[in-house]
Amino acid sequence: MTPSPGAIPPRGAAPRRGRAPGDAEPRRRHGWRSLRILILLLVLLVVAARTYQERYLSTRWREPLFVSIYPIAADLSPVTLGYLAALDSERFKPIDRFFAREAERYRLAANEPVRTRLRAELTDRPPQRAADAGLLATALWSLRLRYWAWRVSGHAHEPEDIRMFVLYHDPALTPTVPHSLGLTKGLIGVVYAFAAPEMNGENNVVIAHELLHTVGATDKYDFIDDSPRFPDGYGDPAQKPLYPQATAELMAGRRMLAPDKWQQAANLDQVVIGPATALEIRWLQHRQSAN
Ligand SMILES: [Zn+2]
Repeated sequence: MTPSPGAIPPRGAAPRRGRAPGDAEPRRRHGWRSLRILILLLVLLVVAARTYQERYLSTRWREPLFVSIYPIAADLSPVTLGYLAALDSERFKPIDRFFAREAERYRLAANEPVRTRLRAELTDRPPQRAADAGLLATALWSLRLRYWAWRVSGHAHEPEDIRMFVLYHDPALTPTVPHSLGLTKGLIGVVYAFAAPEMNGENNVVIAHELLHTVGATDKYDFIDDSPRFPDGYGDPAQKPLYPQATAELMAGRRMLAPDKWQQAANLDQVVIGPATALEIRWLQHRQSAN
């Protein structure tokens, strides 16, 4: 039986109890505070241990990493909804093939480093970090994001090592999207993508880029003007002549055309994983033996 709304006193309306001298209330409240701090510390400890374990397991490169892709409509435009309705797992297979191709180039022991899986569309959107978030606000937002990710995806029956939440935008409504992100903590990526078939290749470059952030790769571009950093952000820093570069490095995401000109990689065929990134994701430690 549900009580009528009127049966519940409004929150905060209860009269405050006066406190007599010698009342045990302050001490009890102090005890509560210690308990709450203890619980918070325990939560942080468990989260830290889990992060450490994830970092170890995600860069062993023995079995494929299962990457779940959760599409989300960022707006209700018919363009976005139509794009999502037509989405199938083939759309993301270039990502699997890209990592297999690059793994072979590095003679990685695993020949299938990642296996993407398209999951059912989500209607819930991830919590957004405020643009001016400081260190503490960012840490809290990161915990909220992990909790959100667990809540919306924690019931998957198939294994998933990494979760990528891809928010699709109608380019006519949102011509520029915020920076996508990939967190090593929780192995979660949030990708801002475009609901346009001609952007499929670029969307996959962004997904692969954020995916590698989750396993420890860092950006290889200049944060002021987005230009690839030399030498690590170049597809081939030894190429002669140096420009135009034939390929882009994944963690730079852009291909140098001339000393002062660079361009977003159109698809993963134009992209490679450079040695600096390969070192960060521990590909160089897990190569096949020479013979
Ligand atoms: Zn990045």
